[in-house]
Amino acid sequence: MTRAAIPLSAVSLSDVERARVLEALEQGMISSAGSQVREFEGLIATKIGVGHAVATASGTSALELVLRAMNIGPGDEVIVPALTFASPALAALLVGAAPVFADVTPETWTLDVNEARKAITSKTRAIIAVDVLGHPCDFDALKDLGIPIVEDAAEAHGASYKGRAAGSFGVASIFSFHANKAITCGEGGCVLTNDDALARRVRQLNAFGMDPDRRYWHTEIGTNHRMANLVAAVAVGQVERWDSLVAGRRRVAAAYDSALKLAPIERRPVAPWADEGVWLYTIATDRRDAVLAACRRWNIDARGIWPSLPENPAFASFVRTACPCAEHISKRAIWLPTWSDMPNESVDAVAAAVVAGLLESAD
Ligand SMILES: *Cc1c(COP(=O)(O)O)cnc(C)c1O
Repeated sequence: MTRAAIPLSAVSLSDVERARVLEALEQGMISSAGSQVREFEGLIATKIGVGHAVATASGTSALELVLRAMNIGPGDEVIVPALTFASPALAALLVGAAPVFADVTPETWTLDVNEARKAITSKTRAIIAVDVLGHPCDFDALKDLGIPIVEDAAEAHGASYKGRAAGSFGVASIFSFHANKAITCGEGGCVLTNDDALARRVRQLNAFGMDPDRRYWHTEIGTNHRMANLVAAVAVGQVERWDSLVAGRRRVAAAYDSALKLAPIERRPVAPWADEGVWLYTIATDRRDAVLAACRRWNIDARGIWPSLPENPAFASFVRTACPCAEHISKRAIWLPTWSDMPNESVDAVAAAVVAGLLESAD
């Protein structure tokens, strides 16, 4: 018997996005100067409750622009969690700074404040606090360290910390709108901040460093990581559908919770003060290989999560301390297929494969 393939994630696009793209095409507005880029920036700033949004080509370029706007560069250090997608470490390296890895906690899988404190030196200029797998960091505790926080909310659309939206913490925050994120325009990102000067600086750096009041007059070394209007058109439609897209993933997570209620696996932990945004439903087990093998057999694209960052060859020369918690999680955790329109029957099929894998490996 062959079963339908179930991908890790899928994009939900509707007539809302289609109408916006057609509008951009009909207006002949496709570059970053188009009106939907501005519209998108206004919508996301309002949605998250911050003063300024600057659209970017990706979440990684948003992080890089924030660090550059903070004048972080060679000789400086940026603390990043050991358990995350690599962008925060890459952004530090792209501006010439050194990433310093700090371990995460078993309670939330986000930055361990005590480990972050131990990583601080006279060269520390920022902490990139990642809301990993949609779980917000403990921002009140991090703030007490006295180091500027940059919030990486790339995986945390719809999450909140003590009632306040993820993406509104720190001196600046970023989102990614990559195709596998909860809100997407294929490739894209944004910088969010309440700091007028920082927002202006990010915008100017992202417009080749040109004086905003004098065209072709470069007062800084800038770059171009801007979002194109055609892409922004998709992003506008997705932000308009934000609540239903976020709710769709929550429904899938609830369906997994109930389908796996009796299975001997751990669900990724959530702190009492956190409201998780569902990105990819994540479980952990010592029998990961068997579960992944069963999923492969059933044509289900479940995956082991990232290796911890210090384990990667590219970052080996920056490792100062062991990060055992991040390593432990990275060896046991599994992403299960998750997207907002995922049918409940598909959730049940994935859960059945997980249970089959656990049974086969039971001793
Ligand atoms: C996806 C992601 C990013 C940025 O991704 P882009 O593909 O560059 O948009 C940054 N940080 C984290 C934690 C991510 O998961």
